[in-house]
Amino acid sequence: MVNETRCVEWSYVTYDLIVIGSGPGGYSAAVRAGQYGLKTAIIEKDAKLGGTCLHVGCIPTKALLHTAELWSFANHATDEGITIDKPTLQFPKVIERKNGIVSKHAKGVEFLMKKNKVEWIKGFGVIKKAGVVEVTTDKGTQTLETKNILIATGSEARMLPGLTPDPDSILTNIEILNLQAVPKSLNIIGAGAVGVEFASMFKRFGSEVSVFEMMPRIVPVEDEEVSKELEKVFKKQKIRVETGAKCTDIQKTATGVKMKVTLANGKIEEVESEKLLVAVGRAPNTAKIGLENTKVEVDRGFIKVNQYQETAEPGIYAIGDVVAGTPQLAHVASAQGMVAVAKMAGKPATPINRNRIPGATYTEPGIGSVGLTEAQARAAGYQVKVGKFPFVANSKATILGAHDGFVKIVADEKYGEILGVHIIGPQAYELISEAVTAMEAEATVETMMHTIHAHPTIYEAVGEAFQNVYGLAINV
Ligand SMILES: Cc1cc2nc3c(=O)[nH]c(=O)nc-3n(C[C@H](O)[C@H](O)[C@H](O)COP(=O)(O)OP(=O)(O)OC[C@H]3O[C@@H](n4cnc5c(N)ncnc54)[C@H](O)[C@@H]3O)c2cc1C
Repeated sequence: MVNETRCVEWSYVTYDLIVIGSGPGGYSAAVRAGQYGLKTAIIEKDAKLGGTCLHVGCIPTKALLHTAELWSFANHATDEGITIDKPTLQFPKVIERKNGIVSKHAKGVEFLMKKNKVEWIKGFGVIKKAGVVEVTTDKGTQTLETKNILIATGSEARMLPGLTPDPDSILTNIEILNLQAVPKSLNIIGAGAVGVEFASMFKRFGSEVSVFEMMPRIVPVEDEEVSKELEKVFKKQKIRVETGAKCTDIQKTATGVKMKVTLANGKIEEVESEKLLVAVGRAPNTAKIGLENTKVEVDRGFIKVNQYQETAEPGIYAIGDVVAGTPQLAHVASAQGMVAVAKMAGKPATPINRNRIPGATYTEPGIGSVGLTEAQARAAGYQVKVGKFPFVANSKATILGAHDGFVKIVADEKYGEILGVHIIGPQAYELISEAVTAMEAEATVETMMHTIHAHPTIYEAVGEAFQNVYGLAINV
């Protein structure tokens, strides 16, 4: 029995599975392990369960983006014939609401652990060798024995060399989510999903926003036409976008942060803003978890796994943001958790298919995508046929006042195989689900052409784009 009041050393408890990290990957895997009847413990170093996604990632950002959308509506309500007399934004209340949503769901995760008989161990987990995990808590150190270990320690924001984040001026996703006032100006380094979502959020809250991206285009993992469209719309919304831009000499000033930007044309400009968000990617949390005590192989810090999420060390699995070669997304982490736990429980395990992972970016307009981009499909040697449909020709989009963007289908001419679907437009992150299901069910372009889409809906645009692979869309 563990005595909670004294330092506990070398007390052995035997588990079927110890999960390290309680993000969407770790907690979902623990639930599934409980459902399979495995004796399971989850180790979490933070005070609450839920990880990056719940506390400083997916959920708080989407809560704030929702409020930004309502605020934008309140300011443009006259377009709809509604008069809202002097709307005001009480930003601390906005943050309080966001915190309430996060807390509610953190309690939900706690409930799920109890319901599925998963033991929650509060502390920092280190692997001593296969089958042995040491946990350091504020009460001491405990050593646990287990048949399987699942590494789900996630990631943290990368910083530029020489910079340290602080709550006032140089921010990561953690600090920016707790601002108590909308900054007058916000410069953002990095235009991946995190950077562009904060740009879209704070522009609507009223900040002057500039985005600086080193790559030749924003949202660089998306189809090129999607990147172009988002840049066009951002510029229309008066968000400054600079691609091919390099930021250096970042310094705090009395009023904010200044830096030098070498623009794509070679011109050097000094820019200053009240706050600076650094959104240059996420580093895996693998440095301090004892991998050196195992045969686990890493590639630039990311853990190498096989299709069943097994590492090179038998009995040690890895999922989520720490894994090499899969996108850092919450639904990838949880899907990989299902595969790993099924494998260790001796149940049928279906490996995830890299080409069927939806991507969702909650900008305005939103982005939803799955499968190969047009360029990737061409590079892979397919005879590519593209079908596009613009939201400007969709009646529900007109009703919503959301005409920017399009649906783009990338198909193989030979068999009508759907290779990829790329949507930018209203609720694109919801619309993409139809494409993911179609691809998972191996539906062809023809099947989707004959699938009846209700009218008037924005997802009619998806049906029309499929028809347009053969030049047969009706409304353009
Ligand atoms: C601003 C932002 C917005 C995002 N929005 C989305 C989105 O809309 N959709 C989406 O799919 N993805 C989104 N993501 C990405 C998503 O958050 C991650 O892909 C996801 O959280 C990864 O899950 P995970 O389980 O691998 O790790 P994490 O969620 O990072 O959880 C890892 C957990 O492990 C704990 N831990 C680490 N080391 C130890 C240790 N040694 N011992 C004990 N505990 C440890 C950490 O404290 C943490 O709780 C977003 C990310 C950010 C930053």
